[in-house]
Amino acid sequence: MGTQARAAVVGEYGGPLEIRDVAVGPLREREVLVRIAGVGICHTDLTAAAGGVPVPVPAVLGHEGAGVVAAVGSAVDTLAPGDHVVLSYSACRTCRNCQGGHPAYCEHFAVRNYSGRRLDGTTTLQLDGTALHGNWFGQSSFASYAVVDAADAVQVARDLPIELLGPLGCGIQTGAGAVLRVLRPRAGASIVVFGAGAVGLGAVLAACVAGCATIVVVDPVRERRELALSLGATDVVDSAAADLTRTLRALTGGGADHAVDTVSSGDVLSTAVAVLRSPGSCATVGLRGGRNPVTLDQSALLMGRSVTGVIEGDADPRQFIPELIALWREGCFPFDKMITTFDFEDLGAALDATASGAVVKAVLTFTSTASDETEGLS
Ligand SMILES: [Zn+2]
Ligand SMILES: [Zn+2]
Repeated sequence: MGTQARAAVVGEYGGPLEIRDVAVGPLREREVLVRIAGVGICHTDLTAAAGGVPVPVPAVLGHEGAGVVAAVGSAVDTLAPGDHVVLSYSACRTCRNCQGGHPAYCEHFAVRNYSGRRLDGTTTLQLDGTALHGNWFGQSSFASYAVVDAADAVQVARDLPIELLGPLGCGIQTGAGAVLRVLRPRAGASIVVFGAGAVGLGAVLAACVAGCATIVVVDPVRERRELALSLGATDVVDSAAADLTRTLRALTGGGADHAVDTVSSGDVLSTAVAVLRSPGSCATVGLRGGRNPVTLDQSALLMGRSVTGVIEGDADPRQFIPELIALWREGCFPFDKMITTFDFEDLGAALDATASGAVVKAVLTFTSTASDETEGLS
């Protein structure tokens, strides 16, 4: 017997997400049931709903969930009902890459995050008595309840605004990790960030934490450039500006130590390499779905420049999310300034606002969960 939940179901690629009553669970021994308090919308959800990621349908997407543990499987001793958790991607924790500190490159990443099923082939969700694909990034959290592997749920303190923390598990982790875990700028360094969405702005916040002296943000939307300035960017440039490369090289004193490409078109990636000084490093993090061939000037790379592709910031959420929360408490990582909340039942408006760029990071909240939780705090 499962728990009843409200969930956004993708019936077919390119079709609408429909909120339906679904059955969640029952739990396997190492799983936990999480009552979702809030879940961010990430562009990868939109890419998947359109068919750009091979997740089977019908499915429930959503992979920036956070909430309260409602029940635990028989072998779970690390979490208990009432614990607050932020969910992130699923990793096996035993393969060579996981053991080497790189769970984002888990050798079993695809089956654990994109297959829509548990490893034994069953689904965590049912719709009208038939299998409904779950386990999207180990969670499928566009739903009032989610079943997750206990190892992929990061426990956090109960005094935090749990409904806002979900984006730390993907979009913000991706941008911040690209800076703090991969590029690792020295204090005083210069960095150019292409794209002022949640990932790019996460990179900006991380660049501030790292002590970068020059943080330039490139984006076509004026409101986003203004938000970037309020979050710590030192300069902003319209991506349509004439002589973009020359402008960026001038702003960074002849070339940037680092660049973060969140757009990942061929044009933007080649510009991101062209603005680097020598040596210099660029992280490219955008997921465009399917193959994405680009052309780069190899002679520019020869001069000590590098480009690295990064998934999930190459960060281990179990260490990185608590680090980001500690920075937020100190006032050094105000990621909540980029969030706009919507009630879960207003999913359509939230998706539209995400697709159009009207909001930077939409977070769907479940009001009943929030009030239950307040009672539990007393
Ligand atoms: Zn692994
Ligand atoms: Zn994501």
